Amino acid sequence: MLSIMYDVLIVGGGMVGASLACGLRNTKLKVGLIEPKANYTQGDFGDDGRASAVALGSVMYWQSIGVWSKMLQGGATPMHRIQISDGDYPGLVQLRCQDMGVEALGYIVPNQVTLAALWQTIGASAIDVICPGRVMAVHHLETFVQVEVLTDRGISYLSTKLLVAADGSRSGMREQEGILTDRRSYDQTCIVATVKTKMPHHNVAYERFYTSGPLAILPMSSDRCCVVWTVKQGELPRLLSLESPQIEAELEQRFAPELGEVKLESAQLRHYVPQWMHARTYTKPRFLLLGDAAHTTHPIAGQGMNLGLRDVASLVRILRQAQDPGHDRVLQQYQTERYWDNLGMILLTDTTNRLFSNQIGWCQFIRRIGLRLLQVRPFKQVLMYFMMGLHCHR
Ligand SMILES: Cc1cc2nc3c(=O)[nH]c(=O)nc-3n(C[C@H](O)[C@H](O)[C@H](O)COP(=O)(O)OP(=O)(O)OC[C@H]3O[C@@H](n4cnc5c(N)ncnc54)[C@H](O)[C@@H]3O)c2cc1C
Repeated sequence: MLSIMYDVLIVGGGMVGASLACGLRNTKLKVGLIEPKANYTQGDFGDDGRASAVALGSVMYWQSIGVWSKMLQGGATPMHRIQISDGDYPGLVQLRCQDMGVEALGYIVPNQVTLAALWQTIGASAIDVICPGRVMAVHHLETFVQVEVLTDRGISYLSTKLLVAADGSRSGMREQEGILTDRRSYDQTCIVATVKTKMPHHNVAYERFYTSGPLAILPMSSDRCCVVWTVKQGELPRLLSLESPQIEAELEQRFAPELGEVKLESAQLRHYVPQWMHARTYTKPRFLLLGDAAHTTHPIAGQGMNLGLRDVASLVRILRQAQDPGHDRVLQQYQTERYWDNLGMILLTDTTNRLFSNQIGWCQFIRRIGLRLLQVRPFKQVLMYFMMGLHCHR
């Protein structure tokens, strides 16, 4: 039975797990990465039409580990302004670069561009990539963890001082370790589409709140926009049965009027059920959860991956100073640093979604007062500071 000993073994090569691999590549640690999707090693990351709003704090972290320039070349679009509105109600909040003295509030990056940049960097490093590989079982031994992995050559046994589960929101690793979660599903569905608009977007992102849920319009290259359109679950069958021109007409009713006519890039609409989930603990002996495996949020504020990257930044910093990467102190410090920041964002996005996605009179009153307060510079700057992830940037 062949068994290699790693310092850190990462399960899951999505945007968060792959970022951790890149963050650790120039350390003295022996790192392995396990990912089941064989196409990732061939540079094929699919095109699910999804793009993510990347906060400035995340951009700064990717810059610090030398992967951001590849994303910029691949097609990252800066956001110069974010416009927030309660449907068509005239009280707009404008978040501008000038408010924070920065060149961009963040960037919109297609997920496949992010993955390509990270996997290219991993390919040029000394990290062991086990792909395709799927973890089948985990055995905790006294001073290390042994992992049974199914590869295209059969079963392999890998040993590690620290096992990191970055295997997404349905994390099999989290279940195997018996870690309980708190969660809430919404009576909503997020429809994701790419559209071309008649008028240029001028690098403005829009968050328009409707009673069925928010509509996010995110600027992308070649004057296209990624749309995340949240609707009530009951509305989905009717919307999916429509032809493209009818869907475009539905979108135009809700779209920012200054963008003019809307044309879908593809007739196929993808949809996701949003939910928040938070693991009650992020750690077990020589084991920890990272990214969506530990927490998910409603996509209303585009924060899920940004939180995962903050997990990565914290863990890399702790591991750089650790003698034993799987020591209890490492796990405890990681949990302490990350738990409350993640929980805070989960609660903020959940409250915002509940406050805006209804027609109750007092909710409407409170949200309009809230939007007015956000027109006052100091309040706006505090919100922007946290949403841009600058409070975690060291
Ligand atoms: C509609 C929508 C819009 C969003 N918009 C934004 C946004 O604008 N900004 C933002 O910050 N976030 C956004 N998010 C959230 C963001 O997409 C996620 O937080 C992010 O993708 C999580 O990355 P991850 O690497 O943790 O998990 P995943 O992307 O799920 O990756 C998990 C990886 O683990 C692998 N894996 C699974 N099982 C195993 C196994 N047994 N062994 C080995 N590997 C395994 C999978 O193949 C996969 O590659 C959005 C989410 C949705 C649904």
